[in-house]
Amino acid sequence: AALVTMGGLTACTDDGEKKVGVKLRGGDGTGKVGVILPDTTTSQRWGTDDPKLLKAAFDAASVPVEIENARGDAANFQRIGDRMIAEGATVLIIANLTPESGRYVIEKARAAGVKTIDYDRLTVNGGASYYVSFDNELVGRMQGEGLVRCLKAGGKRKTPPRIAYLNGAPEDNNATLFKNGYDSVLQPKYDDGVYLKGPDQSVDRWDNAVGRTIFIEMLNQFDNKIDGVLAANDGLGNAAIKELRKRGMNGTVPVTGQDATVEGLQNILAGDQCMTVYKPIKKEADEAAKLAIDLFKGQPAEVTEQVKDPESGASVPAVLSKPEAIFKDNVGDVIKDGFVAKKTLCAGRF
Ligand code: BGC
Repeated sequence: AALVTMGGLTACTDDGEKKVGVKLRGGDGTGKVGVILPDTTTSQRWGTDDPKLLKAAFDAASVPVEIENARGDAANFQRIGDRMIAEGATVLIIANLTPESGRYVIEKARAAGVKTIDYDRLTVNGGASYYVSFDNELVGRMQGEGLVRCLKAGGKRKTPPRIAYLNGAPEDNNATLFKNGYDSVLQPKYDDGVYLKGPDQSVDRWDNAVGRTIFIEMLNQFDNKIDGVLAANDGLGNAAIKELRKRGMNGTVPVTGQDATVEGLQNILAGDQCMTVYKPIKKEADEAAKLAIDLFKGQPAEVTEQVKDPESGASVPAVLSKPEAIFKDNVGDVIKDGFVAKKTLCAGRF
């Protein structure tokens, strides 16, 4: 919809609103693409997989990229954004640490005529130019269905199984989408009296150590009578598994996860974790890089759908990929896809 004069003094924003005085910097192939990732401790991906795969995608296109990680510090996230804009980045890819830090960077970028791509996490009410992620409600449904499958495999029970929840960070829009997904599977089970709804808590900032503390309280409160754990990612799943091991309950209480981390897959192979959700991060990184490279070169950027911002109601042009549920019997799919090497997974173990 937009008429954008690259390098000119006037540009129309995506909604057609005329903005005078904003000099668009993208599109002439100069400058660089900046990437800001959130932390290194809540999931293997941010410190390892995403930077590696994004770097490879930009290198293959010979487009200069700078990839930074805010290491869990929101002020740092904002500082990196300011610096990248000041240094002439023309496109920014961000996975926000908090909605506030995301909005801060997007606003600064907009004022400087720099395009933004929300990576994996939608910055609610942020107004980024684009959004690249997965179908995150489907991720949640796979977790709910996975838990159901593993509970069934555990055989007949005298009483309905009680399910405990370790949800992701409340301010991460993805955590809400995951929960919408698994609630849609589990709520009918509670309504039918087939399952019992147990303690349901969010874990601030996806902090694994906090997750473990919360899970200890849950077990104590219910006298260890928890029969299934809906953990929103592998890190939180592992926090629960550590405590289950300590109490000799591992392997009998199914625990879900997400991200197909080395630790998560090893927990699955050991029989201590029920499933994980594999999100082909290479696909996500490639899609984000492709968009960024097109914007960088001033070429039309292609999207496949529009995602509605849950607060502002605005449509964000988006590309969403499909996840895959992984159980013990198809761990090989993750290896086949090249996301993890068999020797890494099996190092001295299985
Ligand atoms: C991502 C997950 C990740 C979690 C914690 C979410 O926004 O989608 O892949 O496990 O953040 O870092």
